[in-house]
Amino acid sequence: MNDIGVRDADVTDVDVVVVGAGQAGLSSAYHLRRRGFEPERDFVVLDHAPRPGGAWQFRWPSLTYGKVHGMHALPGMELTGADPARPSSEVIGAYFTAYEQRFDLRVRRPVDVRRVSEGDGGRLLVETSAGTWSTRALINATGTWDKPFWPRYPGQETFLGRQLHTAVYPGPEAFRGQRVVVVGGGASGTQHLMEIAPYAAGTWWVTRRPPVFADGPFDEGRGRAAVALVEDRVRQGLPPQSVVSVTGLAVTDAVREARANGVLDRLPMFDRITPTGVEWDDGRTVEADVILWATGFRAAVDHLAPLRLREPGGGIRMDGTRAAADPRVHLVGYGPSASTIGANRAGRAAVRDIVRLLEREPVPA
Ligand SMILES: Cc1cc2nc3c(=O)[nH]c(=O)nc-3n(C[C@H](O)[C@H](O)[C@H](O)COP(=O)(O)OP(=O)(O)OC[C@H]3O[C@@H](n4cnc5c(N)ncnc54)[C@H](O)[C@@H]3O)c2cc1C
Repeated sequence: MNDIGVRDADVTDVDVVVVGAGQAGLSSAYHLRRRGFEPERDFVVLDHAPRPGGAWQFRWPSLTYGKVHGMHALPGMELTGADPARPSSEVIGAYFTAYEQRFDLRVRRPVDVRRVSEGDGGRLLVETSAGTWSTRALINATGTWDKPFWPRYPGQETFLGRQLHTAVYPGPEAFRGQRVVVVGGGASGTQHLMEIAPYAAGTWWVTRRPPVFADGPFDEGRGRAAVALVEDRVRQGLPPQSVVSVTGLAVTDAVREARANGVLDRLPMFDRITPTGVEWDDGRTVEADVILWATGFRAAVDHLAPLRLREPGGGIRMDGTRAAADPRVHLVGYGPSASTIGANRAGRAAVRDIVRLLEREPVPA
């Protein structure tokens, strides 16, 4: 409303705004459709990336579809016949494109959601690069890719080589003949090392804590236990941890081989960065051309700051997919649902809750 009580012309009313069109946003949009919500009239899906595919569209070319383990299809449409040698960015980009068309989800892109705040009459105001929406409920499905976490170490700005984050990893050829320090004990760090080692003049792996290799199959029971641990954290309002920090690193044949060859011998975290490498307090040094930070990502939720959902612990306290402090706001793909299967399930749960909140006549699912 403006100050004479007239609604601004460029504010559009909907029942639900979905922010993000990755696995979590598309799964939510699918369930909205099934429950009788009409795209554009009842809900909109906004995404700031240029193409369909969510974060997958930005993943490095050497991450082929065959290297992706445990990717679950979106609800209602299988992903079949994909060439395992093709980059996952292309395979999943094409699959998401077909999915959006098949279910007529009408994703608006590129639309950057900048701020979500309290609006009039119990509604939320969603300000974007392409206008403002006023909504009764919000599904936030913005993932983590847009918020790479890059820790700071003394001397970092003095380094004369190249520093880069997993988010812009270009594939292994770019490291030909170079001495590369990889920082980070998660799955991305180990994958980078195994890819880069055959090209590089030398690789060193540095992690804060000793990595935990989890032998044996990553079965359903282990998956469930990991999800339960992360669920418990977000219920307490703590920042969710990465799933690997909970499950340990899966030991594939490639990992076994890399361990045998010394590619995954780990050094403790260095104490400082020098112009030519890294250094430990005990006097040890490594000369390097590149520091590759495989130090993970954080939830991309800065645009929700005006709603003050964050707890003193730094996370958003969750009750299922709902923000405990605001029943209009659902986080899908956050914490325990930050996996393709988790995002599918959370999308359905969030929509079920929102149907109840909006007191809409349920349409049989
Ligand atoms: C290298 C790698 C490999 C993985 N492999 C697997 C695997 O094998 N199996 C598995 O289950 N999981 C895997 N994961 C995790 C999996 O990718 C994610 O859990 C899931 O795909 C994330 O879906 P999402 O929709 O939550 O996020 P995303 O795919 O990141 O989608 C979020 C979307 O929100 C948009 N967005 C963000 N901020 C805004 C904003 N302010 N305004 C508008 N739009 C915005 C982005 O453009 C993006 O399209 C992997 C992750 C990584 C990093």
